[in-house]
Amino acid sequence: MLETMQKGLSPAPALLALAVAVYSCFLMVEVVRRVRAADHEIALGWVLGGAVCVGTGFWAEHFLGLLALELPVPLGFETQLILLTWVPLVLAMVPVLALLGRRIALRWRIVGGVFAAGAFIATHGMGISALSMHPAVQWDAAALAAALGYGAAALALSSWALRRLLAGERTPGWPARLGVALLCGLLLRGFHHALIAAAEFPMLSVSLTLDQLSGDALAMLVAATTLVLCGVTQMATVLEHRLRSQQDRLAQALRQVHSELESTGFRDALTRLPNRLGFERRLQERLQREGGEPPSLAVAMVNLDGFKVVNDSLGAAAGDALLRECAARLHALVRHDDVVARAAGDEFLMLCSGPLDAHSAELVARRAGEALSRPFIVEGHEVTLSCSVGLALSPEHGSDLSLIAAANAAMQAAKRAGGATHSFYEPGMGEDDTDSIDLQRDLRQAIAQGQLMLHYQPKRHARTGAVRGVEALLRWKHPLRGMVSPAEFIPVAERFGLIGTLGNWVIEEACRQIREWADHGLPLCVAINLSVHQLRQSDLEMRIRTALARHGVDPRMLVCEITESVAMENTTVSLRVFEQLAAIGVGVSIDDFGTGYSSLSYLRRLPATELKIDRSFIQDLDKSRDARAIVEAVVRLSHALDLKVVAEGVETPGQQEILQELGCDELQGFLFARPMPAADMLRLALGGRGPQQAAAPRSAASALVFDLSGALHG
Ligand code: C2E
Ligand code: MG
Ligand code: MG
Repeated sequence: MLETMQKGLSPAPALLALAVAVYSCFLMVEVVRRVRAADHEIALGWVLGGAVCVGTGFWAEHFLGLLALELPVPLGFETQLILLTWVPLVLAMVPVLALLGRRIALRWRIVGGVFAAGAFIATHGMGISALSMHPAVQWDAAALAAALGYGAAALALSSWALRRLLAGERTPGWPARLGVALLCGLLLRGFHHALIAAAEFPMLSVSLTLDQLSGDALAMLVAATTLVLCGVTQMATVLEHRLRSQQDRLAQALRQVHSELESTGFRDALTRLPNRLGFERRLQERLQREGGEPPSLAVAMVNLDGFKVVNDSLGAAAGDALLRECAARLHALVRHDDVVARAAGDEFLMLCSGPLDAHSAELVARRAGEALSRPFIVEGHEVTLSCSVGLALSPEHGSDLSLIAAANAAMQAAKRAGGATHSFYEPGMGEDDTDSIDLQRDLRQAIAQGQLMLHYQPKRHARTGAVRGVEALLRWKHPLRGMVSPAEFIPVAERFGLIGTLGNWVIEEACRQIREWADHGLPLCVAINLSVHQLRQSDLEMRIRTALARHGVDPRMLVCEITESVAMENTTVSLRVFEQLAAIGVGVSIDDFGTGYSSLSYLRRLPATELKIDRSFIQDLDKSRDARAIVEAVVRLSHALDLKVVAEGVETPGQQEILQELGCDELQGFLFARPMPAADMLRLALGGRGPQQAAAPRSAASALVFDLSGALHG
């Protein structure tokens, strides 16, 4: 029987080894948490950086454990071999950190375990060899088998504890993390002691490397270096934690703005009544409330006769006051649970709950007519109006949202009958919407006959006032009707499948204009509006690219405006188009922001360059604290998402001042200039005073200064 030396344990390095083991395990928990939570690339960074630090920790723990070994003879370690033992541990940590704590099949967990155990055993074997004992160390087979069994169980237990710790959605508290680290650290030390117990040192054997690594001072040095390295990683985890909580706070703010915007999305800013969407929602609720039976109710569409004349002659402020008063009068007519909404410009909707027959619905229409025909006093002027009312009843004329279209068709019939009257819906009404049919026929010819043109409205830098770009707005000069508003003919073009041709013409014309201005020394960035139909065109990006190339235009001179509601309508399509446009260098702007229902998490993913706050919020800015709070939140949100913010519809110096104060980047509105033909824009830029500028209100604020240094977006 082989006589062997008695093995002892030096307490200082042994305690240090335990401390380093627990700390390394704690660090391993921290790194594994981040690997699981991070994106692919960041996770890879954590795995590699973590493998070096945690691997070094385990190496130091192991080496300190060997230094704690006491034999009756002095010991020394071969330097090169000890340094080499670092390699298997660091390499093994890569798959271990990547796989630990994940929901993976048992066989993969076993593979990870075998890897880790292999690395520890290899390190141990190399460590013992580094003692260079003569005669060589002997291994007790039974003790070695027991150590390996213990090692497998310890690994399984550690892996189970880690998975339990990280199983929940919430971040585990530090006592739990420390507890798991303590458990893993103790198990690891136990494994090490079991391996040392299996090694037998024959009596009178000597270490041939006495002159190399040995002693307590060395232990201190190893421990200190390792702790510093681990400390650096710990600091990285703390910094990352701070960054993450900042992101969480931002996400919280985004959610808040989202809900504020959502509630304002259903309300008309001018009258504080529900808007069309709000009305649709209430109607839907009312229709569903009754269960199976279609309820008895009436929808009335009220359109003011002659409002445009008042608005044009007394001005927009008087028009607004008049609309508010109309809203109040209609609201006073209805019962508590009835609904009055402002559908658009001078159009109101009323929902009267039943039971309602034709007679009582007619009574509502008459009362509305009487209420609105009483004289109004607006800015010292007496104004008299009348209205046309269309009525649709449920269930006779429908039992869904089509009731609104029916009421609209009936209102059109009342208008055609000369106004100041009401009309009930009749089947067939609205189908022969002759006006739209005429319009679409004319529109088809308009492009060929050059009746369409683009007018341009400047966007000014909020602080310096320099013109940084323009928005191209489509205009149609109809030979008989005069100027037709895009708000009127674009829906017709969309309905009759003409929007593709129209949109392509706009792309081509805008690129041609950018080139022409550039040739005259006016490098202006031009924004065009895209409709939902264009977004669905599979060749949109190719068309834009071709037009840019044909006119030799830098893609960064073009911006595409897409309204928020269109962008949110089909998020997959929008994301694809946004990405395609961004890839060719064209700017993308989210128009009329605040009127749609943005999912803000989705907004973050859109590669947009700019966000335009809808005019309705700007209008109320100097009167309503709510509007101000919303604009402020939108500006902060946009800047957090790295988007430029443009306010549109700026009409008063008061609004301008508030927007500057809130940090808006660019301003657009009648205060500075109305949309104007390209030639006027050039004349203004080159120093002449165009007729449009003279027409713009409050000329001191509207003097246009052009920034000719090359106004690329972004
Ligand atoms: P938008 O893109 O939001 O354009 C801004 C609208 O606000 C323009 O109306 C502009 O004239 C008007 N505006 C600008 N400043 C002020 C202001 O201070 N006060 C007031 N009250 N209004 C102001 P416009 O030209 O009638 O265009 C209406 C909408 O028609 C546009 O809204 C856009 O959505 C659509 N549109 C215009 N051109 C095109 C086009 O080429 N293609 C497509 N698909 N849509 C277009
Ligand atoms: Mg626009
Ligand atoms: Mg807009």
